[in-house]
Amino acid sequence: MSWNDKYEVVIGLEVHAQLATSSKLFCGDSTSFGAEPNTHVSPVTLGHPGTLPKTNKKAVAYAIKMGLACSCEIEKDNYFARKNYFYPDLPKGYQISQHTTPICKGGLVRVKSDDGSYRNVQLNRIHLEEDAGKSIHDLDEDFTCIDLNRAGTPLIEIVTEPDIFSADEAWHYVTEIRKLVRWLGICDGNMEEGSLRCDANISLRPKGTKKLGTRVEVKNLNSIRNVKKAIEFEVERLAALLDEGKVVQQQTRSFDASNDTTFAIRDKEEANDYRYFPDPDLAPFHLTDAYIKNIEAELPTLPNALTAKYSELYGLSDYDAHQLCDELATAQYFESVIAFTSHYKAVANWILGPIRQFLHEHHQHIEEFKLLPEKLAGLLKLVEEGKVNFSIASSKILPALVESSELSALQIAESMNLLQVSDSNELAKWIEEVVAKMPDKVAEYKKGKKGLIGLFVGEVKKLSKGKADPKLVTTLLEEALQK
Ligand code: ADP
Ligand code: MG
Repeated sequence: MSWNDKYEVVIGLEVHAQLATSSKLFCGDSTSFGAEPNTHVSPVTLGHPGTLPKTNKKAVAYAIKMGLACSCEIEKDNYFARKNYFYPDLPKGYQISQHTTPICKGGLVRVKSDDGSYRNVQLNRIHLEEDAGKSIHDLDEDFTCIDLNRAGTPLIEIVTEPDIFSADEAWHYVTEIRKLVRWLGICDGNMEEGSLRCDANISLRPKGTKKLGTRVEVKNLNSIRNVKKAIEFEVERLAALLDEGKVVQQQTRSFDASNDTTFAIRDKEEANDYRYFPDPDLAPFHLTDAYIKNIEAELPTLPNALTAKYSELYGLSDYDAHQLCDELATAQYFESVIAFTSHYKAVANWILGPIRQFLHEHHQHIEEFKLLPEKLAGLLKLVEEGKVNFSIASSKILPALVESSELSALQIAESMNLLQVSDSNELAKWIEEVVAKMPDKVAEYKKGKKGLIGLFVGEVKKLSKGKADPKLVTTLLEEALQK
């Protein structure tokens, strides 16, 4: 009997997303990644006496954007609190956060669950807070190095209810969050650079019971893969403990990516008393309905709504629709092309097939793709009209079309001599050659093995280097073989 039959896994995730503002949450220091250590550190970031923080409006707007995208209730009366603790990378001795008064309450995120259907994961809240600096333990043999550039960078923390029930579901959830923050343009979502970090809270309970088990929390997971691996490891570990009749200790743990295991870093008894109190240097702020409505009006159509539109209105498969809506830039390119053609399925195929491959080969992102949408629509039309075949269009004309700013797809096809041959006289020569070359097969065909027609057509295509119009070739071949 595996743990599957005995226990239910319950997971709550806390995702920290670094907001893509150019300055910090409470001062003008730059937030750019990769600068010389300790160069973006003003007296405000250091909390020197006499300095005064000032709230970054854009960060507030970004948090609201995420809240609206997740159907949260937006809190109109807000303030920041000080969370006091001592740590070398926390120069002020406290972190400014929204402890009990998150700017966004409740909400939900739609994710794929294990049976392939979709369900809503309930959010508890999304709140604003500042990041701490970075302690670097592996740079020097004897010392820990501190880089305070990150101290004060705006974060939102997106906290779920204990409403995720497997490692795979957690994987889908974080994937969805990353997609959303990128879609909204509020965070670059680069987990390798630490722009998105996740703490996973995990507990087991006997199947069929409601009461939550004691949780462990794995801190600072910096990739979606690690979120999944950490949960998988913890589930096995907790199940083994319970099987042995042991009691699970509430614990904070860390993930070791070198062997996909976790280890304890502190027990519950060592938990800090943070002595929260409202930051006396920051005035509470009130949001008006009009302000929130304005932000709502600026939101792009959200990926779920767009996916639904693509499958319902344009008849695309669920898979294609999801692929197109994986990134805002891809969806935008799709939209720009369908302004010139209504062959929706063909446009989707081109973007998800040859264009994606082209971009991959050229190490480009779709935002950098130079091909004008009307020119792509022109190329599609050539294929649709049978003037060039798909494989030539994608392998030969597409790259040339990207390179050329003036020529149309048709002009390129002409200049490269790639137009499909539909001239019966020219086709007849190739057909004759094929028929003469394969007397045995021709005899078989004449005896009734009609399926061989495909072989003959293929041979003609080869001879013509892909330019023979396959429909016409088929008709002409059938005639020739009746003789
Ligand atoms: P803290 O801020 O101390 O980490 P919270 O109560 O705010 O604690 O919860 C943090 C996260 O842990 C939330 O996502 C919540 O859903 C999740 N969580 C709380 N209890 C459990 C539990 N027993 N099992 C799994 N997840 C839990
Ligand atoms: Mg926590």
